[in-house]
Amino acid sequence: MEFELWMLLGIPLFFGMGWIAARVDIRQLVSESRTLPRGYFKGLNFLLNDQPDKAVDAFIEIVRMDPETADMHFALGNLFRRRGETERAIRVHQNLLARPDLPQEQKEHAEYELGMDYLKAGLLDRAEETFNRLIHSQYAVPARRALLEIFQREKEWPRAIEAAIGLQESGAGSRQKEIAQFYCELAQDALVHLHPEDALPLLEKSLQADRVNVRATLLIGDAQLAKDDVEGALMTWRRVEQISVPHTALVAQRMMDGYRKVGRPLEGVNLIKSYLEQASSIDLLEVVYKAVLELDGLDAAKDLVVNELRRTPTLLGLDKLLEARLVDAPASVVSELSMVKNLVHGYTQKLARYQCSHCGFKARQFYWQCPGCSRWETYPPRRTEELNVMN
Ligand SMILES: [Zn+2]
Repeated sequence: MEFELWMLLGIPLFFGMGWIAARVDIRQLVSESRTLPRGYFKGLNFLLNDQPDKAVDAFIEIVRMDPETADMHFALGNLFRRRGETERAIRVHQNLLARPDLPQEQKEHAEYELGMDYLKAGLLDRAEETFNRLIHSQYAVPARRALLEIFQREKEWPRAIEAAIGLQESGAGSRQKEIAQFYCELAQDALVHLHPEDALPLLEKSLQADRVNVRATLLIGDAQLAKDDVEGALMTWRRVEQISVPHTALVAQRMMDGYRKVGRPLEGVNLIKSYLEQASSIDLLEVVYKAVLELDGLDAAKDLVVNELRRTPTLLGLDKLLEARLVDAPASVVSELSMVKNLVHGYTQKLARYQCSHCGFKARQFYWQCPGCSRWETYPPRRTEELNVMN
């Protein structure tokens, strides 16, 4: 294309148009901001200065002066909820919902916020009712997610399963892991009430949802044991090693008891020793130590602990070694040795916790669902000290 003089004219024209556009934008902005109540800026300023109490007062004033501002109601309601003032949050959202002229979109929004208020306040029945009204609205996915949380809190596992399937179908990602855990909860309940025959089909469903679910595998063994099928239980529990060797720590004691029951304790101890070799663990060591002490005597048990401590030098291992040493210590050193043992043991109590990999919540007991963040399968089957050694 050849250069022509008129093209130069395009440049000032281009800038001119930009200038006009900018002025129009600014004018619009200024006129819009004039329509906002002054209290809005005051409130915003308090919020930015980390003075939420004063911000709330300013926003209340606006809502009082101009009850038509729906957005301000939402902001105020959320502020109340976040500060734990759920009763006030509920009132704000209920007021909004009571307006006959509220457009459908905002009505659904208010309903959703009201549901969240109820959830936060622990009014689960009302929250459930509210979210149920929204499952065909624009808030379908978050409402279903909230319903799933409610059913879990209420331990209504069949409804939790239904809600999880609904969520999956609405395209909110896979929930198979949770579904498997919900079936495990149901099965565990059946086992507690001594109905192993009811537990088994539930556990099959759990495995259908998640093939590598350790808990379901473990519970199938428990159900078989409850039906006096010890060999079957042992076969099932051995499958845990194929899913995850560290998780054998959760099943080792059951297995050892099973092998003792069928008269093959040596087979059991060798098997669990092989797990220990693959995945060093104080829980596995504990089971093997007790079995070796019983089968091969104290010297063999001491050797086992010393070797393990050399391989994985942890305070938990040292604690175990001191315990073994104390069994036949000469009278002259018993008091010193037990003093050291008590010291080490006091310290290892803190290290022998399980810890959630999501929120860091520590617990003495192993949990399938974290009591801190309610997530499933976030606890590694190892004690905190062992995790640190591995890292
Ligand atoms: Zn957690």
